[in-house]
Amino acid sequence: MGKAQDMCAHSGGRLTEKRSRILELLLLSKTPLSAYEVAEAYNKTAETSMPPMSAYRILDFLESEQLVHKLSSTNKYVACSHIACDHAHEIPQFLICGSCQKVKEIAISKRIVDELDEQVANAGYKLTNSQLELQCLCETCIASAA
Ligand SMILES: [Zn+2]
Ligand SMILES: [Zn+2]
Ligand SMILES: [Zn+2]
Repeated sequence: MGKAQDMCAHSGGRLTEKRSRILELLLLSKTPLSAYEVAEAYNKTAETSMPPMSAYRILDFLESEQLVHKLSSTNKYVACSHIACDHAHEIPQFLICGSCQKVKEIAISKRIVDELDEQVANAGYKLTNSQLELQCLCETCIASAA
């Protein structure tokens, strides 16, 4: 949390109590959450209730600080797994388990992203978002299926 505070201070944003509570909820969650689910989880523990719209705005802020990421395939949010890291954040890529919904954030080499960009350009399009969301089976689900 201290690190997240620093990151926000750095970019001029403020990690208010509500914002950090929501970040915490996402850090604790084993699966990605929608804005609605975040509001619901928040309301279970807080004295004041938060409408999904406010949760959405807070998630938007956290996303702009790269503390959380939005999965466009499911419209859900995950906490960044590099919050405590010092290195620069790369374009996040996500492995999404189709069986238990667990998500892993990984880095894909720049070479692959560049190549993708090139293929898209060859097709006459311009890549505007190179975040990959790959449908996978996680190690636990592979093991339990075996
Ligand atoms: Zn990240
Ligand atoms: Zn890292
Ligand atoms: Zn799984």
